[in-house]
Amino acid sequence: MSDNIQNILSLFSSDSVAQLTLKRLSAEEEFPDLSRHHNHMASVLNLDLYRRLRQRATPSGFTIDGVIQTGVDNPGHPYIMTVGCVAGDEETYDVFGDLLNPVIQDRHGGYKPTDKHKTDLNPDHLKGGDDLDPNYVLSSRVRTGRSIRGFCLPPHCSRGERRAVEKLSNEALASLTGDLKGKYYALKNMTEAEQQQLIDDHFLFDKPVSPLLLASGMARDWPDARGIWHNDNKTFLVWVNEEDHLRVISMQKGGNMREVFTRFCTGLTKIENLFKERGHAFMWNEHLGYILTCPSNLGTGLRAGVHVKLPKMSKHAKFEEVLKRLRLQKRGTGGVDTAAVGGVFDISNADRLGFSEVELVQMVVDGIKLLIEMEKRLEKGQSVDDLIPAQK
Ligand code: ADP
Ligand code: MG
Repeated sequence: MSDNIQNILSLFSSDSVAQLTLKRLSAEEEFPDLSRHHNHMASVLNLDLYRRLRQRATPSGFTIDGVIQTGVDNPGHPYIMTVGCVAGDEETYDVFGDLLNPVIQDRHGGYKPTDKHKTDLNPDHLKGGDDLDPNYVLSSRVRTGRSIRGFCLPPHCSRGERRAVEKLSNEALASLTGDLKGKYYALKNMTEAEQQQLIDDHFLFDKPVSPLLLASGMARDWPDARGIWHNDNKTFLVWVNEEDHLRVISMQKGGNMREVFTRFCTGLTKIENLFKERGHAFMWNEHLGYILTCPSNLGTGLRAGVHVKLPKMSKHAKFEEVLKRLRLQKRGTGGVDTAAVGGVFDISNADRLGFSEVELVQMVVDGIKLLIEMEKRLEKGQSVDDLIPAQK
C-alpha cells in the first residue's frame, strides 16, 4: 500500500468518522423521537442536553447514543418505569453525568450527586434471618454484580475484551477452595439441553431474549465468552459476561437467609481478593458504590429474595401497599417479567443504592417474617389490619 493511501485511510479512524458525522448532521436531525416514551432517560433527555452530550465521549469511545439506545428502542409503560440507559464503561457515569445524575436521582429515591454510599458486607451485622418458615419460604437467594476495572462493560466491550474477562474470571475462580471449590462451564461447550436444565432449575441466566439485553448491545456475539461457574452443590454461582462482567449468587433451598448471606459475603470477598491479586480491582467509588451496567443496580447491586408461598396475602387488597411500605418488590418465580404460579412469588428488596448490603438483607428478612405472619392470620380467617406496617 502506498504511503498516500495509508495517509488517506488514517483520516478515517473511528474518531474522525464521528467528527464528520457531527459536522454533517445536526443534533435536531439526530435527536430520537421520545414522544411516546415512559422511562427515566426519556423524561430527562431533551434536545439541548442531547446537543451538549453529543460533543462528548468516554476515553474508550462510548457516546450518548450508546447510552440511550436501549431506552429509545424500548418505550416502556406508564406504570412500569424502566431506566432506559446503560453504561459502556466506568467513566460513562461521569462523562454523561448531566443525563445520568438526574436518572439516578429519579430511580433511587432522590439520591443526590453529593450523597455517599455505604458498603457493609459483614454478615455478623445481620440480625436473625436463619429461621424464615420453610413451610412458606421455598428458597433463598442473594445476588449482586461486579465490574472489573479497566475493561469496557457489556454494552460496549469488544469481543477480545469479553474473552479477556472470561479468562481472568476463570483463573481467579479456579483458586477457590473448600465449599466454594467449583468449575467453569462455557455456554458454547454446553448442549442446548444442559443449558435449558440449568435455566429451568433457576441457576442460569435466560437466553438473550430480554429487550434490555438486545437493544443495549449486551447480547452481541452470544454465546461467545459467556458462561457459568458454580460449586459442586450449586449454592455459590458466578455468571460471566451476561448483563455485568460478573454476577455473583448464593442460594439454597429453604429459609436460612443468614446462611445464604454469609456464604455470599465470604465468597464475594474472596473473589474480590483473587481479582486484586491479579491486578484487577472492581469498579467502585464512594458516591455510586459498585459500578454496574444498568444504573438501576448501582450501589450494592444486591437483590436478596425468597421464593415464598403467599396465596392469601397476595390476594389481599393491601398487598401492593404493604410491599411498598416494607421497601420490597415482587416478581414471578421464573424471573423478572414472569407471573407468580400457585401463589408463589419472588420477593426481594426494592432498593440498591443508599442502603448497605446488610440493611437491604435485613429489610427482606424482617419483611418476609411479617408477610408470613399475615398469611397465617388470613389462613385462620382473621384480620391483618393491625399488622399493616408504617412506611420504612
Ligand atoms: P436477577 O437478574 O435479579 O438475578 P431474575 O429475576 O432475572 O433475577 O431471575 C434469575 C433466575 O434466578 C431465575 O431463574 C429465577 O427463578 C431465579 N431466582 C431468583 N430468586 C430466586 C430464589 N429466591 N430462589 C430460587 N431461584 C430464584
Ligand atoms: Mg435477570
